[in-house]
Amino acid sequence: MEKKILFKYIDDPLQVNIDTYMSHGGYKAWEKVLKSMKPAEVIDEMKKSGLRGRGGAGFPAGMKWSFIPKDSPKPRYLVCNADESEPGTCKDRVLMEHDPHAVVEGMAIAAYAIGSHQAFCYVRGEFAYPAAMMEKAIDEAYSKGILGKNIFKSGYDLEMVVHTGGGAYICGEETALLNSLEGERGMSRIRPPFPAIEGLYGCPTVVNNVETLAVVPQVINMGAEWYAAIGTEKSKGTKIFSLSGHIKRPGNYELELGTKLSYLMNDLGGGMLDGHKLKAIIPGGSSTPFLLPNQIDTPLDYESLAAAGSMLGSGAVIVIDERTCMVWVIERLIHFYKHESCGKCTPCREGTGWLEQLIGRIEAGEGQQGDLEKIDSICDNILGRTICPLGDAAVMPIQSALKLFRDEFQYHIDNKKCLVKTEFEFK
Ligand code: SF4
Repeated sequence: MEKKILFKYIDDPLQVNIDTYMSHGGYKAWEKVLKSMKPAEVIDEMKKSGLRGRGGAGFPAGMKWSFIPKDSPKPRYLVCNADESEPGTCKDRVLMEHDPHAVVEGMAIAAYAIGSHQAFCYVRGEFAYPAAMMEKAIDEAYSKGILGKNIFKSGYDLEMVVHTGGGAYICGEETALLNSLEGERGMSRIRPPFPAIEGLYGCPTVVNNVETLAVVPQVINMGAEWYAAIGTEKSKGTKIFSLSGHIKRPGNYELELGTKLSYLMNDLGGGMLDGHKLKAIIPGGSSTPFLLPNQIDTPLDYESLAAAGSMLGSGAVIVIDERTCMVWVIERLIHFYKHESCGKCTPCREGTGWLEQLIGRIEAGEGQQGDLEKIDSICDNILGRTICPLGDAAVMPIQSALKLFRDEFQYHIDNKKCLVKTEFEFK
């Protein structure tokens, strides 16, 4: 079902102002944490809540925070990953534009939990307005003494700053983000060491997604048990889904995890565009495998989507109708991933280039017999063999399309034209 925790005040245009945010209970969680909770207690509360990272990987937030070494003499850093760029995903932008103080408060609580006195909000370069809203919110928080020195007379200091990136998809990957934040080229780092041990400037660092951080104040205010009671046994809480494609009412919807995909698409999204049939669904952003129409009742949670052969990912649900050529879809996606590959590792750098050429020529009606087997082989040699998840992200939708819609690819090769376009030309 639709359940508004993050989106409770999203339609209030004044929510961006600190006074309105505070009149709705804003910064109470931050005050409570500073005045009455030890950092370890905050981490325990997050662990008990079951909150998992909402950027795509779904790693438990409290566990990630607990990996910061307790005895390190180095400074620690908290980084909010606001480099939202997975095609189809547009939820973090909305949170920063309409409820930026929730993000600031979540960042502050996370920073305190890991013993950090410096927090960064890394916003993708194209997000000029969300970055400006975050800067305004941070300035307002400083002006009220909610950030800065001796916050709430607790003796705790926290500085916070917005940093804008250059607009590279790879900088949404946490180690490339850290490189970029350091002023280096945005390329992924080989792990280990993981950022919790050696992150920003070689110091212990936690990187969390905007949506993950924005819900933290509610977990503190309402309690871990309250949050853990929402959702399913292993997928707790709510998640924002960005619904797009051939659907009547696209938009961002906050759902209790475990809600059926059909409820999102039909009850909230209004169903398919008039007169058109569902062909496929990308359930978790452009890097996740496709679902078929007979899977429309799959519950939207980590485990159910994995069992259905796909992933929850970033929660970007892209609906595709029967007029769409899947060869064209895959050609567009591999063009994107090839362009965004940072080039550090050979399978991704070279493999995405070869895939773009092969799929491009099939789409152009110049495919050759044996091309699909070559594509299979290249995908096999990328999957699981790259430094960061971009390699897997590039090939998972291709492998899925070749499994589910191989006849369309073969038709392009055999007939030098598109099966879907041919069908629609005759109608
Ligand atoms: Fe760079 Fe691609 Fe390798 Fe990731 S998988 S490090 S994006 S070349």
